[in-house]
Parts: sequence; structure tokens; C-alpha cells
Amino acid sequence: MRDSYDIVVIGGGLGGLTAARRLAREGRHILLAEQHSQLGGLATYFQRRDHIFDVALHGFPVGMRKSLRKYWGKDFAERVVQVRSIRFHNPQFQLDTTFDNRDFRAKLQELFGLPQERVEAFFAGIAAMNYYDDNSETTREFFQRYFPGRTDVWRFLMEPITYANGSTLDEPAISYGIVFGNFMSEGVYTFQGGTDCMIEMMQRELRSCAVEVETSAAVDKIYVAGGKVRAVRVNGREIACQAVISNGSLPRTVLEWTGQEFFSPEFLSGLQKVRLSTSSCQVYIGIREGATIPYIGDLLFTSTCPEYNTDALLSRNISSRTYSVYYPEIRPGTHKYSVVASMNARYEDWAKMTREEYRAAKKAMIEDTLAALEQYIPELRSICDYTEAATPLTFQRYTGHLQGATFGSKFDGLRYSMELFKQVGGLFHTGSVGIIMSGWLGAANYGVITANEVDRYLN
Ligand SMILES: Cc1cc2nc3c(=O)[nH]c(=O)nc-3n(C[C@H](O)[C@H](O)[C@H](O)COP(=O)(O)OP(=O)(O)OC[C@H]3O[C@@H](n4cnc5c(N)ncnc54)[C@H](O)[C@@H]3O)c2cc1C
Repeated sequence: MRDSYDIVVIGGGLGGLTAARRLAREGRHILLAEQHSQLGGLATYFQRRDHIFDVALHGFPVGMRKSLRKYWGKDFAERVVQVRSIRFHNPQFQLDTTFDNRDFRAKLQELFGLPQERVEAFFAGIAAMNYYDDNSETTREFFQRYFPGRTDVWRFLMEPITYANGSTLDEPAISYGIVFGNFMSEGVYTFQGGTDCMIEMMQRELRSCAVEVETSAAVDKIYVAGGKVRAVRVNGREIACQAVISNGSLPRTVLEWTGQEFFSPEFLSGLQKVRLSTSSCQVYIGIREGATIPYIGDLLFTSTCPEYNTDALLSRNISSRTYSVYYPEIRPGTHKYSVVASMNARYEDWAKMTREEYRAAKKAMIEDTLAALEQYIPELRSICDYTEAATPLTFQRYTGHLQGATFGSKFDGLRYSMELFKQVGGLFHTGSVGIIMSGWLGAANYGVITANEVDRYLN
């Protein structure tokens, strides 16, 4: 690590990594400081015994291929492959879909019995959404407009998005529309080789364009002088810079690392009201070497709840689970299977537990998940040889995100992320925020948007 850089990027999540690469290609000298021992942030993986678990590789829109090609290179884009099928199993319907425009339109008409004009009007409504328009309508109101009282249709349209980013019917329809619109073109995609392969490729690429990457390097202070950033403190050492891109927690960037004295009262009071998305939980299931599991879909959305219900979805009393099944094809040449079950259960409910209660609750979550999954893989217990669970407390511990926020903030956070540099010269934020900039595609694209702002600022 040198004493001075043009730009310090705090955090190696997809937003920070993509911003660093973009700026390095412009010839900027960059330090990327990641507090964890491994890059990737939430887009990460971990190895236990001979199992590799992908934490956040369940599916992303086809747009990720274009973004990877444009901002990382052809060899990245070539690894983006479509998942075969997505299944739904709940008391209102059971179906199999490729989750693309054509199939969704057909399902809405043939299975849900909706008239074609209504379906077309809904898709036109999605296409017409614009971030800069009046965004006061909620997703509930939007659905009610096109499919009044059809909670089965709402569930079909909404459940995957809730799993994807924890958003609810009572949030701005724009945050639903942009994410749904992104997916609803050509289906759902994944990265062949797995998250480990992608992060390794990104690390190599950054090295080749001379980004200095330091892992186990935590930034705990951003120094400001004359209204502009002048340095950061990394592992206790002061490093001078002209600009900082924080890929870490937005509230911590402002309140903890920079200091509220550098921000206007209006900005601070608005920021403090921003809500975070804080309910991701997972159970990781490793399948014994040599055992196989039948094809049950790549993504399986299950629920025992009679209707789509946000409160039930976020409750510790888990009734809905999404299974991502990793067949050997994800890592060609291997013969390994694993399953990652994703659930939502609010941070507050975990945070108030004693240590013993927490341990017991995690164990119960694993047990309940195995019991629920046995419905689809009856031989599961005899072929499973590793399990582990993550809660919002786990995500908080590994990424430093307040309350284990896994999809950044709700919609209201985007403005504060984008306007950071108007408060302190040279201070920028990137990464999952505002729902529409979240997920792999949103975070990577936002990395580029922020990089362009930084470039403009330095010029
Ligand atoms: C369980 C789960 C499942 C998901 N599934 C999907 C999915 O299927 N598809 C999809 O598109 N998206 C998914 N996502 C969301 C997606 O992974 C995230 O939106 C995206 O990866 C976030 O990227 P980011 O740029 O915001 O950075 P983050 O991933 O938030 O990374 C921020 C980085 O900053 C580092 N950092 C923080 N503070 C400091 C500091 N002080 N000093 C140095 N470093 C610091 C952290 O350690 C971290 O590495 C999922 C997320 C989770 C948690």
C-alpha cells in the first residue's frame, strides 16, 4: 500500500469492484480496501469440507451479460447461462416457467384466465415506468389497477421479487417495475463456474489493470478538509486521496466514517429515515460426494401460506422458502450438488435473542428446512452431509452492513446515495441501494454510474 492514490474504493462488493475497474481503465491510481479476507461482498461463496456454497448466485436478469461484457470483458459474458426452469409450489398454484416475457404472458392468460388486453396493459404499464416520474403509487395499488382482488396473480408476479430483494406490496411500484421489467425479458441467468470463479476472474482482471487490492483492510475514517475528502484511514494508516467511493453501508459512511458535522441537517434527517432491507436468511445443504438429486427445478419458490402475505413472508415463523439447487453443471467437471434455501425473517427478531436462543433458533431453521425440502427430495437426510445457516446477524458480521442489510436500502435511500458528493466533495457511494440499484446487475451498473461521476469530478 502506498501513501497516496487518486481514489480509494472502500469495499469489494460488485459495485466497488466494477467502479474500480472502470476507473483504472481511465488511468486512475486506485486502492480497493476490503475489510473481509475475500472479495465479493454479498456476492460471495464459502467452502466447508468439500462443498462450495454460493450465497447470492440464484439468478439475475440477462442484462448482466451485457454489463459483464462491457465492463469486465468477453470471457465473463460467455459464462452467463440461462437457468432451465423456475417452479412455484403454493396453495394457490403450482407451475413451471422459464420466467420470460412470452411464457409469463401465456401463463397469465392460460393458467390464470386473464384477458389478453389486461395482460398487455399490465406489461405496457411496467414498460412505461420512469424513475423521474411521480412515484407515489404503491405496488399494491398498481396490481389492484390491473388485476383487482386477484391475489393469486399478485403472488405469481410478486413472490420472486420479494425473495430477490425483500420488497413488499407497500413500496413504490417503480421499485417493483424496474426489477420485474429487468427479469421479464429473456428469463433468469446464472454464472457458469460459480461465484468463486467469477470473483477469482475479477481479482485477476483488477490486478492486470493495476488496481491495488488489499483484503483484511478496514477503513474506519474518511478525512475531510475544506469541504472535500483528503484521506482515509485503512487499518490505522492514513492514505491520501482525492476521491472516495464507499461500497460499504451508506449510513455508516456518513455517520461513522465521515462524521455528521460535514452534512447538512436536511440531508442527515432524511438519511436517518431511510429504511434498510434486513431480512435475508439462508440454510446451506451440502450433498454427499457420489449422491445425486433429481431435477426439481433450478429455483423452486415454495410456500404453505394460503395467500401472498408480506408479514408472513418476513416472520420468524417461516412458511415460505426458495430453494436454489446447484447441479454439477454449474461447475462443469465436478459432480457436486448443493441446495441453498433462502428465507426472510426480520433482523429485529434475531437481534433480541440471547446467545443460546440464537443458536437454538438457527438449528431449528435448519431442521425445519430439511423437513420442508424432504417433500421434494425424499431421500434428503440420507444424502445430506453438511448444513449451516445464516441470518441477518451473519450478513452484518461479514459485510459490516447495519442490521445485516442485504439489499441496501429501500427506495428512499437512492437519493442520499446519489447526492453524497453534493455534501462532501469527492465522497461517493455505490452498490446495492434503493431496490432498483440492487442485486448483481443493479450493483454492478451503479458501480459504473458512480465511476463516471468520479471521473467527472476529478476532471
Ligand atoms: C442471501 C442473498 C441472496 C442474494 N441473491 C441474489 C440473486 O440471486 N441475484 C442477485 O442479482 N442478487 C442477489 N443478492 C443481492 C446481491 O448479492 C447484492 O445486491 C450485491 O452483491 C451487492 O453488491 P454491493 O456492491 O452493494 O456490495 P456488497 O456486497 O454490499 O459489498 C460491500 C463490501 O464492502 C465491504 N466493506 C464494508 N465496510 C467496509 C470498510 N469499512 N472497509 C472496507 N471494506 C468494507 C464489505 O466487506 C463488502 O465486501 C443476494 C444477496 C443476499 C445476501
